[in-house]
Amino acid sequence: KALVIAIDGPSGTGKSSVSKAVASRLGVSYLDTGAMYRALAWSCVDAQIDLDDAAAVAEHCRTFDLRMGMDPTAPSVGVGDRLIDAEIREDAVTSVVSKVATNLDVRANLKQRQRDLIADGAARTGGCVAEGRDITTVVAPDAPVRILMTASEEARMSRRSRQLKVAAESTRAQIVDRDRTDSTVSQFTTAADGVVTVDTSHINFRQSVDAVLQVVQE
Ligand code: C5P
Repeated sequence: KALVIAIDGPSGTGKSSVSKAVASRLGVSYLDTGAMYRALAWSCVDAQIDLDDAAAVAEHCRTFDLRMGMDPTAPSVGVGDRLIDAEIREDAVTSVVSKVATNLDVRANLKQRQRDLIADGAARTGGCVAEGRDITTVVAPDAPVRILMTASEEARMSRRSRQLKVAAESTRAQIVDRDRTDSTVSQFTTAADGVVTVDTSHINFRQSVDAVLQVVQE
């Protein structure tokens, strides 16, 4: 049976870097589902679609040519032939991504794409590490390994600000705000039944990778 590892958690827990490292170590595929929501937001802006027009955003979502590269050592995100890995990390996207992510038609469409990508990736490599906000609960609730990564708000803010190279205080409002919007569509503050919590507040990157691998081996 395919080794599907579902990892959820808010930003700043080390979720993405740990997920990639775990996938590399195990030699399996990797799927960043947050990047898919970001790609949709970017593509809507690029196509000059009004993000407040839910029907237009949903229609664009159904038809846009999203291409996810699932090699954990070189993951990539593209729309058509255009690679947008840098663009989707920009503030212009980060500040509006929750808007498209709260659209239920969008969530239904991306959920199906995510299930297909996980199945394809697992068929190619024997497994897939998929990370996001609703992977353990909605996208892959039957995954043999399900993990919720958590960290204190303090630890998350200092990681985020180090990543973005700005003062911790200036990222607080953004993180708190995005968490609030996100938690209206996805629960990630408490682990669902059967989901193992890995708290990274007081452990470093390597220890976090080991903690996840430990859960996989159990
Ligand atoms: O993880 P990342 O910060 O890249 O996610 C970007 C946004 O995508 C989140 O803030 C959330 O709004 C949305 N998202 C989601 N469900 C997922 C993954 C991400 O709603 N499974």
